[in-house]
Amino acid sequence: MSLQWEPEWVEEVLEYSGVRIRVFRDKATGLIACPVCGLGDNASYFFMPRDLLEHLRAHARRADKYRFAVVESEEE
Ligand SMILES: [Zn+2]
Repeated sequence: MSLQWEPEWVEEVLEYSGVRIRVFRDKATGLIACPVCGLGDNASYFFMPRDLLEHLRAHARRADKYRFAVVESEEE
């Protein structure tokens, strides 16, 4: 599958409901790429952090990869 736009992925840490996740976000569209699926042919994209979280929970049910995607909260 070829993309219709040229994504410019920027790495950032998403914070949502107490969870920090290192993700790639496209500068132009704001799309968030699932860090577990990666940026290749199997990539999954989301507009809403909530949707990404749901998707990551689905990963967690299937595999143990989830923990690699989550950045542990730092103690202040
Ligand atoms: Zn995924």
